Amino acid sequence: MKILILGNGQLGQMLGKAVIQQGHQCILYSDRLEQVMALGSEQALSLSLEEAQEWADVVTWEHEHLPDELVAQCHDKFLLKAERFTQLTDRRTQKALCDELSIPTSPWQAFETPQQLEEILANTRKAVVIKSARGGYDGKGQWRWQPGKDISAIAAEAGQRPGIVEDMIGFTDEVSVVAARDHHGEQRGYPLTLNIHKDGILTYSVAGANRFSEQLEALAQQYHHKLTDEIDYVGVLAIEFFVVGEGDEQQLLVNEVAPRVHNSGHWTMSGASCDQFNLHIRCITGIPLPDLLVAPTLMINAIGIEGLPEVLWEASAADCHWYGKQARAGRKVGHVNFMVDTSERAEKLANQWCDELQVLVAKG
Ligand code: ATP
Ligand code: MG
Repeated sequence: MKILILGNGQLGQMLGKAVIQQGHQCILYSDRLEQVMALGSEQALSLSLEEAQEWADVVTWEHEHLPDELVAQCHDKFLLKAERFTQLTDRRTQKALCDELSIPTSPWQAFETPQQLEEILANTRKAVVIKSARGGYDGKGQWRWQPGKDISAIAAEAGQRPGIVEDMIGFTDEVSVVAARDHHGEQRGYPLTLNIHKDGILTYSVAGANRFSEQLEALAQQYHHKLTDEIDYVGVLAIEFFVVGEGDEQQLLVNEVAPRVHNSGHWTMSGASCDQFNLHIRCITGIPLPDLLVAPTLMINAIGIEGLPEVLWEASAADCHWYGKQARAGRKVGHVNFMVDTSERAEKLANQWCDELQVLVAKG
């Protein structure tokens, strides 16, 4: 089959690799450069977007923040209705969908203007996170506020674009479920992944180490099925959750839904019999979904560094991925997967490596 991937960042490249692995063809469209590109190349192809769209049997995407005109032009070959795609790319409609399906989510209120935001904050007695409705990633487009802090300055800044005000959640853990649904409604999910964030950026993930109760694992899959069945989704989709409560009282609150492959699923490139990229391509090309065998894995993001230490390239238990991007503080430039036997070992390795592999904030 011929597949056009919208977006040519690292997720697009990894999807493209899976396309080739399964004997299909692909080209990528960079919405940033507005050019059609071959896999693994920064060189533009002499092909217009119209021609690329014409050529493709299926159009898929590596990120959901696509310009409206691009969606309008390509949605004929999406395996998701354009309205559903748009619904998932705006925090307001995404949260409303969760509410409609009775999938618990962090309490929220929408605002359109700085005045509306100011009004909401004036009536708020709790700490909150203000988030732009569209376009945020890695903690960008977010502001923290608590009673007693100045309202008008933050409302003027954060209210520039429509968004939501969300209760600050006192979670015990942040987890995600990465799972796939094919066009027959068959579903396959990886176990819950524990995600550790710093400054709004995912620093490391641990999966497959049996850390969470069976009941919590089942709940995550159940919410995923409910959501993806409702929108007739085909492919891999990730849901980020906050874990709240203790023991039998543990609950999941949806933080956000990412209708695509996800950074917290990168561990599957070393720790699963079929990784998230191959699983997505199977879904969109109609190949039956396999049972998923998984092994405990730690994934550490390389952030803002110039290169991975040689000792990691040489280590047999480390699987190194480098994206070929220029280093900038807070920018994800690669990741390393480590085979681990326990979650304690994973935490030890994360403590050992995170500082060396991550520059989160610009120095000086
Ligand atoms: P991504 O890069 O995953 O797309 P994002 O920038 O879109 O992330 P969120 O996932 O909404 O934004 O938030 C980033 C991080 O900020 C969360 O993983 C969490 O650590 C923290 N955070 C966000 N919302 C809340 C909240 N309501 N309560 C507590 N912490 C929060
Ligand atoms: Mg997030």
